[in-house]
Amino acid sequence: MGPAPRPVGVLGGTFDPVHYGHLRPALELLETLGLGEVRFVPCRVPAHRGAPSVTAEQRLELVRLAIIGQPGFVVDDRELRRPGPSYMVDTLASLRQELGDTPLCLILGSDAFQTLMTWHRWQALTDFAHIAVMQRPGASLVLPSALEAFVATRRVDKARLLHERPAGSILLQPVTQLAISATQIRGLLARGQSVRYLLPDPVLAYLHDRALYRPSDSPNIATS
Ligand code: ATP
Repeated sequence: MGPAPRPVGVLGGTFDPVHYGHLRPALELLETLGLGEVRFVPCRVPAHRGAPSVTAEQRLELVRLAIIGQPGFVVDDRELRRPGPSYMVDTLASLRQELGDTPLCLILGSDAFQTLMTWHRWQALTDFAHIAVMQRPGASLVLPSALEAFVATRRVDKARLLHERPAGSILLQPVTQLAISATQIRGLLARGQSVRYLLPDPVLAYLHDRALYRPSDSPNIATS
């Protein structure tokens, strides 16, 4: 028998658009938790705020461009192929079917983690995966009491423990704090301002070439 497979990290999101606030913390988790890979899973139904609208395929393409050349980073389009709302619990169930007993690790920013109780079948998430929380700037970790209780019975402090069983533990992992959000990026682009140094250059070039997130009445304002 070979060595046990390393945990597979799953980072879901709208990625509208993907930025360094997703990428750098994900890389730190890949390395500090000893993950085999991090799968970026764009959701199908975008929470579009502002025009022009960006398609799910374009958000997927942006992730593809962002991770080119980074070993261990993988894009996974299963939520785009699945009709209906993109529930993470369904995504984890389908990965569990494919991966057998390989540990799975759902990666969440602390802001997303705080809303966990609003997620479809949230208590089932840890049946399929561990949860690793990336501490995000501006998000205090004061949890609703039912979530606090859920964490209390599952919390671990050592990454090694995520390797020892397929699912069920929760780890809070500090990461380099980057106060970047997709909302901020869409706002800058809508005002015709630059988003350089907030996201990778290939993503910037794609946004620029297609005038994405730009006001339709001022397509010629430079964004780089
Ligand atoms: P929006 O501003 O549109 O709400 P976002 O920048 O938060 O978007 P999402 O695609 O919603 O991006 O986020 C996907 C995941 O990445 C979530 O778990 C979120 O908490 C996390 N995340 C996003 N930005 C950061 C950041 N700067 N640092 C740490 N985690 C982040």
